Amino acid sequence: MSDVKEEKALEKLGAFEIAFKMLSLAKNNDKQNVFLNAGRGNPNWIQTISRSAFARLIQFGIKESKRTISEKDLAGYTEKDGIHERLETFLNPQENEEDKFLLDSVDYVYSHFNFNKDSFVKEWIDGVLGNNYPVPSRILKYTETVINEYLDSVLYHNNTDSTLKDNTKLFATEGATAAIVYIFNSLKENKLIHPGDKIMINTPIFTPYIEIPELNDYDMDEIDLRSKEKNNWELDPEAIAKLQDPTVKALFLVNPSNPGSVSLDNKALQAIKQAVKKNPNLMIITDDVYGPFTEKFQSVYTVAPFNTLLVYSYSKLFGVTGWRIGVIAANKHNVFDKLISELPEKESKELHARYRHVVLEPEKMEFIDRMVADSRAIGLYHTSGLSTPQQIMLNLFSLAHLLNEEKDGKDRDHYINEAKEIVRKRYDDLHKGLKAKEFNDPSNAEYYSLIDIYELAEQYYDKDFSNWLKNNFEQIDFLLELSKKNGVVLMDGVGFGSKPGILRVSQANLPNEDYAMIARQIQDLMSDYHEKYLIEKK
Ligand SMILES: *Cc1c(COP(=O)(O)O)cnc(C)c1O
Repeated sequence: MSDVKEEKALEKLGAFEIAFKMLSLAKNNDKQNVFLNAGRGNPNWIQTISRSAFARLIQFGIKESKRTISEKDLAGYTEKDGIHERLETFLNPQENEEDKFLLDSVDYVYSHFNFNKDSFVKEWIDGVLGNNYPVPSRILKYTETVINEYLDSVLYHNNTDSTLKDNTKLFATEGATAAIVYIFNSLKENKLIHPGDKIMINTPIFTPYIEIPELNDYDMDEIDLRSKEKNNWELDPEAIAKLQDPTVKALFLVNPSNPGSVSLDNKALQAIKQAVKKNPNLMIITDDVYGPFTEKFQSVYTVAPFNTLLVYSYSKLFGVTGWRIGVIAANKHNVFDKLISELPEKESKELHARYRHVVLEPEKMEFIDRMVADSRAIGLYHTSGLSTPQQIMLNLFSLAHLLNEEKDGKDRDHYINEAKEIVRKRYDDLHKGLKAKEFNDPSNAEYYSLIDIYELAEQYYDKDFSNWLKNNFEQIDFLLELSKKNGVVLMDGVGFGSKPGILRVSQANLPNEDYAMIARQIQDLMSDYHEKYLIEKK
């Protein structure tokens, strides 16, 4: 088996970096198996209708632009008056489903939000052409309403406050990746988090939430709210009660978790609501990327809107990791603005000096706008914001869902159901193949699985073998061998904050038939270890 020193060095790397190292090993695996990378969360499906519609909008936009100037491949700017009618003439809804989708979308925003049709279509067209800086830079006007409606539909189930979506402001970002970076950065710049601050995270968790706070720039004191395998990776309300302690400044949450995949249940949500009552200045960041993969997902944002920033990405559900599209949502009334207004005079003066360059009354600048300015180092606030074609893509994906729900029924969007069905099937194949216990529950997104190799070792053979495996090998030995010998790349759960021996399998990125194969390779390797064990025992 592998060299211990090398393994110890590897274990110091982040989980994603270890997986990257294993790729080349796996490609040249000893058994010459087909290389299977179930390490990444990148989905292997895409949503098509919004992409086709985007292409049609560009074609129409070019034609429109030629109305004002037309010199070979140079054209002018678009005009608003009558643009909706001209779009209707251009499109052919009988022939093309994407054309019908576009026309239905205009009807939808007109009937639901009473948007002016010409203004809405102009935002689409200028947006896809990318002929203007993003204005407002935080997010385009109509796009914000459409995305708020989408978030309400997929993330705010059981929410009793019907005005929540209208009181929510959005900042469109380059995926959740940028959202996370912008949030941490602005919390620090605005002196809302300090080195040594006590923060809580729900582990196991997406690695950046562990890594960023530990970095020198932040150097915060992390406390784990550990969800456990025996509770099917659910957080228990007693652990959440620790948040009532006012010395806890912030909670970083991935819900449903990555890699645990399970969403918070109602008890946990109520416990958070209680905690916020006792600790009213608690700042919560919730990353709800996998929400739509569970049934009737309810975000923490619905129970603690004042205290919560919500991060959402379109990457996973729509298969758009290359587009880099996501949002940050914040309530119009929020703890971040409140805490900024209560900063000591010295800090307040420093912030005044920082934002004075871009606004007349810096003390009135909201936290969400500060994030926009900070995202471009203040100096480039006037050219900040997500590129407009990316914003229109967000707009079109959101509309596709909203129109599907109109046709298929509330919570019955066939596209979402198909995406769920894909990961569900792979989850079943993997677990049946491994003879591992399944957790078939509406709260399980089934996007990732956590496989406990020591538990499997005991299940397949016995406790003594399992202990031998635990005591004689570095925790990533199994993972490395699996890639070197069998050609299968999984991820080490330890990087996500779970205990040793837990491996993450992504159900997102391989063809369906490969999941039974992964199960076989894990069993195959386990039997190799067992043979070695028997020889040593003699
Ligand atoms: C994939 C993922 C992200 C990154 O999303 P992008 O929009 O692709 O940057 C963020 N958070 C979690 C929990 C993820 O799994």
